[in-house]
Amino acid sequence: MRRATLRPVLTVIAAACVVACSGAAPAPLPTPVATTTAAPPVQRVVVLDPGHNGGNYVGRADIRRPVPDGRGGTKPCNTVGTETNAGYAEHAFNFDVAKRVEARLVAAGMRVVLTRPDDTGVGPCVDARAAAADAVGADAFVSVHADGSLPADHGFHVAYAEPPPDPAQAGPTRALATALRDAMRNAGFTVSTNRGAEGLSGRPDLAGLNLAHRPSVLVECANMRNAEEAATVSSPEGRDRYAAAITDGILAFLRP
Ligand code: ZN
Repeated sequence: MRRATLRPVLTVIAAACVVACSGAAPAPLPTPVATTTAAPPVQRVVVLDPGHNGGNYVGRADIRRPVPDGRGGTKPCNTVGTETNAGYAEHAFNFDVAKRVEARLVAAGMRVVLTRPDDTGVGPCVDARAAAADAVGADAFVSVHADGSLPADHGFHVAYAEPPPDPAQAGPTRALATALRDAMRNAGFTVSTNRGAEGLSGRPDLAGLNLAHRPSVLVECANMRNAEEAATVSSPEGRDRYAAAITDGILAFLRP
């Protein structure tokens, strides 16, 4: 039994010695194969905030209730928003554009969170929208709106919290605002004739921006009371143009 067990081992040693002990060149060692794998890229998170909501209407006590404004005061929970002269509502425009941006960002590999799931609900309050950005550690928080100004006014502007309430709202927010302004302008939209300077507007009174501890901006895409811009925001093609420009701005900020 013992001899039978040892014989195969001795056979292997003898076979190896045919090369090693004969003086012939040894067989080359196998090339090591890298076993480490590159870490997967970190998925960036964008929170899109379609302003207002379809269930908001003038007179709702829950919409009017005061919430913190991020500057030591209060603001109403939410507002109704504006509309075109033909009755196309801002909340519908905001939601449609946000969904189009969401689709584009997801296709680009981003994780996207919307502050409201549909266009038929109430609120949420502006402080809750900011909290949504903080909850997921948003790399960018972009609120989508359209303005309601005098008919002759037109153009877009990008609002940001000024003075910055915290470091994340300082340099990074300015960079996000500038990237969005540039993308909107590159897409052929003109800067506002009546708000801000060169399409940028630092404001202390926007609670949703004040309260978010992330890079945060609000895009006022157009003046819905201007006939030409009303036609653009009311068409699916026009909304797709806004969405493409906003997406480009967000990606330019996240992928400089
Ligand atoms: Zn609005």
